[in-house]
Amino acid sequence: MRPLEEAQRQVLETVRVLPVVETALADCLGLVLAEDVRATHPIPPFDNSAMDGYAVRAADVEAVPVTLTVVEDVAAGRAPDRSVGSGEAIKIMTGAPMPPGADTVIRVEDTEQAGDRVTISVGAPAGTSVRRAGGDIAAGAMVAQAGTRLGPNHLGVLASVGAARPRVYRRPTVAVLSTGDEVVPYETAELAPGQIRGTNGLVLVSVLRELGVEVLDLGIVGDNADELRAALARGSREADAIVTSGGVSMGEYDLVKAVLGELGGVEFWQVAMQPGKPFAFGIIDGTPLFGLPGNPVSVFVAFEQFVRPALLHMMGSPRLFRPHLPAVLDEAVSTNPAKTVFVRVAVTWEDGRARASTSGGQDSNVLSALAAADALAVIPVGIGDVPAGGAVSLEMFRYPEDRGLSGP
Ligand code: AMP
Ligand code: MG
Repeated sequence: MRPLEEAQRQVLETVRVLPVVETALADCLGLVLAEDVRATHPIPPFDNSAMDGYAVRAADVEAVPVTLTVVEDVAAGRAPDRSVGSGEAIKIMTGAPMPPGADTVIRVEDTEQAGDRVTISVGAPAGTSVRRAGGDIAAGAMVAQAGTRLGPNHLGVLASVGAARPRVYRRPTVAVLSTGDEVVPYETAELAPGQIRGTNGLVLVSVLRELGVEVLDLGIVGDNADELRAALARGSREADAIVTSGGVSMGEYDLVKAVLGELGGVEFWQVAMQPGKPFAFGIIDGTPLFGLPGNPVSVFVAFEQFVRPALLHMMGSPRLFRPHLPAVLDEAVSTNPAKTVFVRVAVTWEDGRARASTSGGQDSNVLSALAAADALAVIPVGIGDVPAGGAVSLEMFRYPEDRGLSGP
């Protein structure tokens, strides 16, 4: 049985970073930039108005009220034809270029127009409500650094400088396979004796989508070596990684490890963690296989500890693990000191600090307690018991506010 950290290190040393490809910006959400992107021109590209109002000379509005002659209207998207002379104003919309001669903008709320005359009731020093060229990003400035995992706002900023096809690490395709003779599609209305609705496939497909990878759903196969061989061979041909659930324990029908050994190689099996101990890791024709246990909570915990960091590594991310948040445990927990234990907890905030309490039963089949949890409280090897009020470290996978309920 391997210590968790050693097993994680071995996985990360084995999986390879995917190639870099130029990709249309609209397909880059969640991908990692492989190059620094700099602005080829300033943003905004030209001086423009921050308000709907009148572009004027500040010197003309030092004493108010004052009446000026409106010589032109400039909407956003148009360039002014004229400049603003002394005693003149140009009606201007937000985002429209500043006309030459004008150095300030009077908000429309502080004006009254009649015909081509506008009376200004509140003055404004030079530069008021003017957005300068380069005020957001100077020409040549860094817009996004290599290693940035692109979120919606990064895409926006890259679009603004015309970086329409950045170089990013390719998006991985991950094959998902559930195993078990008892597992039937979750859409099944009536269960025969001994059957259960498969939940692991759906949960895995969903966490993978959330991570931003392409999913190849291989469905469910029974505990049958031939079917398993065919599915894993397909996964290794068509995907960059394979994630399976079930079939890696000590049972007579636990065939995933045997077939993995036959088609490729088992790198290691069993990790000193709870839940998730029977986790198996191997390679088939260069494709890493993450053999998750069958119990639904073990699936999620092993996914978080192995699959998520490995995929982020393949995607070129320099940041692989969730940040650890210090918290106070509300109640005593007693765990196995020989393993790294992940306690499923719900989080509440008290004076801005996190408090954690168990979100339900802690057996590895209790999916409802995982659904009620916001975080995994990590109890490292050698600790065992944590008293009520004791300090723990949280790996948060959700804000408690997003749960929609005040508590479990
Ligand atoms: P195994 O590791 O194959 O022995 O499975 C361990 C436990 O997880 C058994 O109780 C299985 O019935 C259950 N299990 C396996 N696969 C799934 C699945 N896809 N969805 C829900 N439970 C499962
Ligand atoms: Mg099974």
